[in-house]
Amino acid sequence: MRLAARLYRLQQLDLDLDARRARRDALRWDLQNDTALEQARSQWEAAERAWREAEAALRRAEDESRRVRDKLRREETRLYSGEVTHPKELQALQLEVQSLRRRLDALEDRAVHLLLQAEEAEAGRAAARAALEAAQAAWEQRRAQGEQTLARLEREIHDLEAQRAARLQELPPAARELYESLRQRRRGVAVAGVQEGSCLACGATLSTAVLQRARTAVDELVRCPSCGRILNPLD
Ligand SMILES: [Zn+2]
Repeated sequence: MRLAARLYRLQQLDLDLDARRARRDALRWDLQNDTALEQARSQWEAAERAWREAEAALRRAEDESRRVRDKLRREETRLYSGEVTHPKELQALQLEVQSLRRRLDALEDRAVHLLLQAEEAEAGRAAARAALEAAQAAWEQRRAQGEQTLARLEREIHDLEAQRAARLQELPPAARELYESLRQRRRGVAVAGVQEGSCLACGATLSTAVLQRARTAVDELVRCPSCGRILNPLD
């Protein structure tokens, strides 16, 4: 086989290898960063926090109601006991009882409102928990599939690397060096196909002399005068 054709075949293998490595790296990243799961987790954490806060506010309101209710009961007992007889003192006690009743009413209204909020927060927390569990199950499935694919890609990459090393061994050192350096400088494409008199990599029309040399070369490497890549006639 002509040297340019052998390098062209090596390049196809390298491009295949590049594509598989890129897929492997993307898959690895995906397996380490699951945004849907992270989102579901942070939503659940927020719902959990909101529920705890609502429960704490409800308990505080209930405690306050209990305290005021107890005080009201004590003052009412005093008021109706007949112990307090002084008119001024009696009036003050009546006013205090009225004020405590109003306060208790307001506190009980507030407790009802907070109870509804706590129930809502609890429903939100349950929904977020269910969403998190669904996201975890979906993630587990994706992870299992992803790891299978990753293992397959690793095997394929390993095989291709072995083939590449074997092919490189068979090439003259100068051709190998030229190929590697062109691949680095020309975005992975060191060897350009030639079809209908044009370089397929840069599109340049080749002169008859260059075409002739490229077609007849066996161990010589003819390069595109425009992009510098090694030419490999395909037609
Ligand atoms: Zn070219």
